[in-house]
Amino acid sequence: MSSFIDPYTFDVAIVGGGPAGLAAALALGRACRRVALFDAGPQRNAAASHLRNFVTRDGTPPSAFRQIAQEQLARYATVQLRADHVTSISGERDAFRLTTASGCFQTRRIVLCTGMVDEMLDLPGFRDAWGHSIFQCPYCHGWEVRDRRWGYLALNLDGLANGFPAMLKGWTEDLIVFAGPGVELPEDAVQGLVQRGIAFESSSVVGLVVEGQALTHVELSNGERIPCDVLFAHPPQRHVDLVQALELELDPQGYVQADPMTRQTSVPGIYAAGDLTTRAQGAIFAAAAGTQAGAMCNHDLCITVM
Ligand SMILES: Cc1cc2nc3c(=O)[nH]c(=O)nc-3n(C[C@H](O)[C@H](O)[C@H](O)COP(=O)(O)OP(=O)(O)OC[C@H]3O[C@@H](n4cnc5c(N)ncnc54)[C@H](O)[C@@H]3O)c2cc1C
Repeated sequence: MSSFIDPYTFDVAIVGGGPAGLAAALALGRACRRVALFDAGPQRNAAASHLRNFVTRDGTPPSAFRQIAQEQLARYATVQLRADHVTSISGERDAFRLTTASGCFQTRRIVLCTGMVDEMLDLPGFRDAWGHSIFQCPYCHGWEVRDRRWGYLALNLDGLANGFPAMLKGWTEDLIVFAGPGVELPEDAVQGLVQRGIAFESSSVVGLVVEGQALTHVELSNGERIPCDVLFAHPPQRHVDLVQALELELDPQGYVQADPMTRQTSVPGIYAAGDLTTRAQGAIFAAAAGTQAGAMCNHDLCITVM
């Protein structure tokens, strides 16, 4: 679909075609910029059957969400969609070089929208149930399973400190906090749960009983099996290799530091939007940040004197 004079030279290259990258491409394409959107690899919410809590798209399968966006982008001759994995980025503002499996590309700006990779826990059953009966966000998946038997798997003490289990009680009264493998619940955390009337198990979790993709029980180190339909957990996340190699400045939680207004990272000319910049992860947040990054990147191009 290219109407480009040189299909290897762009104003802006966007890496990652999830909600953030798709939204950035729309903003930049409509601003008459020559844009390439590179996307290849697994999408973060692939395991989920439906995307929820995105106004106008509530209940849309994640693949259909991307398809609708790609069809809309195809109307813009300014946007190239490339199913291509970016392996390296070199150069500098106004003269970046992207290398992919299919060639090298020149671009003046880059918007990183590569998302995050969830590291699956080495806990029997976890991978099978992830996205089906193990979730990270109750706003995304709580409504469909409200009032059922829920668990919260504490993999560290952060979630307890910020009151995550108390929030889960808005969806169900039947909630148990489980200590993840190797996690000990300290006395103050236990007191906090007791004060809020939240049940907990101090014996750590050693496995999950899963039938197909449906969780049925949580197995504890003391041999007990506790019935449980739904588990919430925040497994560790990492950046994709491309982002790690860029050595961008990170925030204290390990996400790429991007200016809240301009989405500019610590490397001039490289912008970032979506999950890789924040723990507040949701498709509509990512799409909004992508739109913002696209607009700010265009503004920068407009005011740059070559
Ligand atoms: C199981 C699960 C269910 C979820 N359900 C919901 C929900 O119902 N509602 C909701 O709002 N949010 C949901 N989320 C969160 C939501 O999926 C993310 O917040 C959102 O997808 C982030 O968008 P993004 O564009 O930042 O990144 P992503 O959607 O992760 O997209 C990043 C893209 O970049 C690509 N990529 C990475 N590196 C490269 C490279 N080097 N070259 C080319 N391409 C690359 C990846 O393959 C991927 O396609 C869910 C998350 C999970 C894990």
